[in-house]
Parts: sequence; structure tokens; C-alpha cells
Amino acid sequence: MEKFVLTGKTLAELEQFMLENSQTRYRAKQIYNWIYIKSVKTINEMTDLPVVTRELLEQKAVLCSISLKDKQISKDGTMKFLFETDDGNYAEAVLMRFDNRANLTACISTQVGCNMGCTFCATAKLGFKRNLTVEEIIQQIYCIQAETGLKVTNIVFMGQGEPLMNLDNMLGAIKIFREQFQVGARRITVSTCGIIPKINELAALDFQSTLAISLHAPNQEIRENIMPIAKKYKFDELISTLKHYTQITGRRVTIEYVLMKGINDSVESAYQLAKAISKLKSNVNLIIYNQNEKSIYKKPSNDTVQKFKYILEASGKKVTIRLERGADIDAACGQLSAKFQDK
Ligand code: SAH
Repeated sequence: MEKFVLTGKTLAELEQFMLENSQTRYRAKQIYNWIYIKSVKTINEMTDLPVVTRELLEQKAVLCSISLKDKQISKDGTMKFLFETDDGNYAEAVLMRFDNRANLTACISTQVGCNMGCTFCATAKLGFKRNLTVEEIIQQIYCIQAETGLKVTNIVFMGQGEPLMNLDNMLGAIKIFREQFQVGARRITVSTCGIIPKINELAALDFQSTLAISLHAPNQEIRENIMPIAKKYKFDELISTLKHYTQITGRRVTIEYVLMKGINDSVESAYQLAKAISKLKSNVNLIIYNQNEKSIYKKPSNDTVQKFKYILEASGKKVTIRLERGADIDAACGQLSAKFQDK
């Protein structure tokens, strides 16, 4: 018998399950709180349920369908979690705490692997296995909270996979994050390599979370050299799609730009980028390329980064440089590759 997965269910679904098992609605509400407010590690920790109810749950239900396989902690406090799905696949998530802020940001995955093929990205090297389900996406947050005893306050869809290629499940997960985990729409960010039709779908839905675009290039030529998806969805069309998106939603987008030495980090590139996005309601997030032994690119010098930032700022953009977190445990941006999978 397939066990009923508790995490991810609405109150109504939990009530139905409990009624079918000759239990009360009240018990369902208790379970709901144990899951979404307390995020307990085991059913047995639901201490206000009678022992018989806990036994019934142990028999017929499980908290999660994914399980924690491995956890690593970086010198800077960043944690990386490796999860195994019930069909033996792996997905990674990262938890970051930024100094002087109470915020706890979780970076989660939407797919096992990825088939976008960006030349600089570790996940791309894994290829694509499958989409994660709504439950598997939200259980990453559940397990992180259960494991650490901490409440995640911000969620970024910047782990493995392309969230807009798994749009329905991503939206399903966001609904649960908002309504059940009580994480506000503005505290959720979705990052995409630029799937134009899906960005239009989000615009039509009046999407209220933050949309971040992995642009990484100031023009079509450079972009299609490092991001194969750019051959399908062209640079200029992407920028106009984003303009349309900001008009419909009233929301500013974030332009992500990974600086790679000699590829996209010249002064000329900075001016070109500034011009390309000058009429786009956007902030810029510069990311210094994370290099490891397998990397084919190099990171730019600090001086190059500062120049690039200055040129964009002078054009009127608000620019931030993304802090590198968890580099010593391969949890840094673009380095999630579930090494375990090769073993
Ligand atoms: N598929 C989505 C989500 C991935 S998010 C997207 O493309 O946006 C991960 C972010 O890290 C993306 O902006 C990605 O381009 C970036 N990234 C990938 N490899 C990187 C690396 N080696 N160093 C820094 N950033 C990297």
C-alpha cells in the first residue's frame, strides 16, 4: 500500500484523510500545525496526538517522500543538503544566513539535473533526469526546517534545474509556501535562463514574486555562445518580453550577470549591457563566477568587477554584488551537481 504523504497537503486534504480513517477534523488541524509551523522530524513528535492516532499515522502515512542523504556545513555557516527521492534520484538545496540579518534564505531545486546546457554551470553537466513534483519541491523546505529547527524566511528557486520548464509544479509549490508556510510572495525569487513563452504566462498571472533573469551577456552573440537557450529565445526579444512583464505586473525584475574573465566582463560589455536594459525596470545582481577544479572559465579580478559595477551604476541602475557563500562545500552559485550521483 502506498503511504499517504503528509507534507504538501492542504488542511482540507488532511481533513479528508483523517475522516476516511475515522478521525476528527480537529486532529487534521493539529497535524497541519505540526507540519507547517513546527516542521517536526518524526510523526512521534506530534505530542498532542493520542498514541493510537500516532500509530495509525505511522502505519498509513509518511511525513515526506524525499529523505535527507547528506548534509555539509561550510565555514561561513552555509549548509548544503542532499535529498534522495523515492525513485532514487538526487536533488540539492542550500541554506544561507546573511550576517546582520535575521533572514534565512533557502535555495531549492526544481528538477533532477537540467537540460539548458549553460556552458559555465555544474548542474548542466548532469544532463536532465526529470521534473520534481510539487511535494518534492516543498519537502526540501520542510526537511531543512525539520533538520535545523529553524524557520526559512526567504526562498530562491536557484538550485538545480530550470524552474520555468517545470512551471506548474513551481507555481503549485509557491502557493503552498505562501498559504501554508506563510512565506510572503515578495520573499520568494524565481530565477530563469529566459524561457520567453513562460515569462509571458507569468505576466498573465500577475506573478507577485520576484523574477530574476540569468542574462549573463550584453548581446545575442556572447549570450548564445555560453547559453544554448539563447539560440531559441533571442536577446532582443527577451528584453522586450521583460519590459512587457514589468508593465503588466508592476514589478521590477532582477538581471543576474555572472562575470567571467575575458568572456563578458569588458568595459565595452558593461556599456552594452547598460544600454540594453536602460529602459527595463530592473536591478542588477552581479555574480562573480564560481570556479572550481573542473571549471573552464576564470573569475575576473576585483578591479574588473568594480569597473563593471561602476559603469552600470553611472547609467542609473541599482547594482549589487552577490556574496559568495559555501564555496568550500561546493554549495556556491552554479556548483550544485549532486556529486553523490556519480558514486
Ligand atoms: N535555471 C535557472 C536557475 C539556476 S539559478 C537560471 O538559469 O536562472 C543558478 C544561478 O547561478 C544562475 O544565474 C546561473 O546562471 C548561475 N551560475 C551557474 N553556474 C555558475 C557559476 N559557476 N558561477 C556563478 N554562477 C553560476
